[in-house]
Amino acid sequence: MRPIRPGDRGPAVTEIRTVLTGLDLLSKATGPYHDEFDAATEQAVRAFQQSRGLSVDGRVGAETWRALDAARWRLGARTLYHAVPVPLTGEDVRSLQERLLEMGYDVGRADAIYGVRTSRAVAQFQREVGLTPDGTCGPHTMSALRRLGRKVVGGRPQWLRESDAIRQSGPTLVGRTVVIDPGHGGTDPGVVVPDGPLRWTEADLVHDLASRLEGRLAASGVRVQLTRGPAPETCLPDIDRAQLANSLGADVFISLHTDGHANPEAEGVATYHYGTDNGVTSATGERLAGLVQREIVARTGLRDCRTHAKAWDLLRLTRMPAVRIEVGYLTSPADRKRLVDPRFRDKLVEAIVAAVQRMYLPIERDVPTGSIDVSELRAAVAAGTVVD
Ligand SMILES: [Zn+2]
Repeated sequence: MRPIRPGDRGPAVTEIRTVLTGLDLLSKATGPYHDEFDAATEQAVRAFQQSRGLSVDGRVGAETWRALDAARWRLGARTLYHAVPVPLTGEDVRSLQERLLEMGYDVGRADAIYGVRTSRAVAQFQREVGLTPDGTCGPHTMSALRRLGRKVVGGRPQWLRESDAIRQSGPTLVGRTVVIDPGHGGTDPGVVVPDGPLRWTEADLVHDLASRLEGRLAASGVRVQLTRGPAPETCLPDIDRAQLANSLGADVFISLHTDGHANPEAEGVATYHYGTDNGVTSATGERLAGLVQREIVARTGLRDCRTHAKAWDLLRLTRMPAVRIEVGYLTSPADRKRLVDPRFRDKLVEAIVAAVQRMYLPIERDVPTGSIDVSELRAAVAAGTVVD
């Protein structure tokens, strides 16, 4: 087919202009109403090609035509399903994938192709909202998506249920499962800082911290699992760490890292939970992150670099409240001096345990930051006197 190019006229040009108008690339006032491939059309075609990663020539050849054809589908206009062997593609598939990603479902990349992974994510969504999990996105699934879409703070319906479950499960930590994830390891040491004859690595420090945390939590009756040993052969990818926590049915996931920066003045602690730029967030993850951050700042005096929402695999794929804590900058002489002191690491551990405990206290019974005495609590738990 000969490319449709500037100067051409006819119904094909009108069709192209109609799709471009639907994508907000041409003015709604004039877009679909004439059949001339004018300068504005060319500009819109170029913008479209650029947005789709096509070669930008301002003409509509076979490839650009196919992309425009796929772009005309608006989410909800047709039923979407995993078609074999030629999968459905289109703008509606991309919108669906973006929405699922925002809600924390694993569709991989929003590539506008309705493949197995998208179908599985739809089935999982359907299961969680009580629909038949057939992986097909029809009118019922669409209306559930619309109801729960971007407006729901708390993201996945599962997370909303999760907050309820936590509130109802009582304050005891006994019998809960916590997965602790010391970052890096194996071939990946993380941040490395030579310090005189010593060489501090993030991987070693966070593993030590994880072991201390394991000991304290286990003493409170918590089942604890670490995602790696002190010297693994290889570095486990974040996706596998998340899957490990999922397969153990963990109640809480805590990933431990130290930060690093070229500027030695960068310092402080920051805590991350799942969330996106659109304000979708894991409500329980956010609450845990806030508690961890406040307890650490109050008990250690590390600079407060606040909590942040991120859509990292580790936080997105874990199905329980999950946080990643960057406990200070190994590259900051001030932070490093404290991090290499085992007593300081014990303080950090104390703060994290207090935060986990507070997550299970009903909000009205929550205590001021820095006030839980973890050793008293442990004694009380051991004696069976903590009941509610
Ligand atoms: Zn790290």
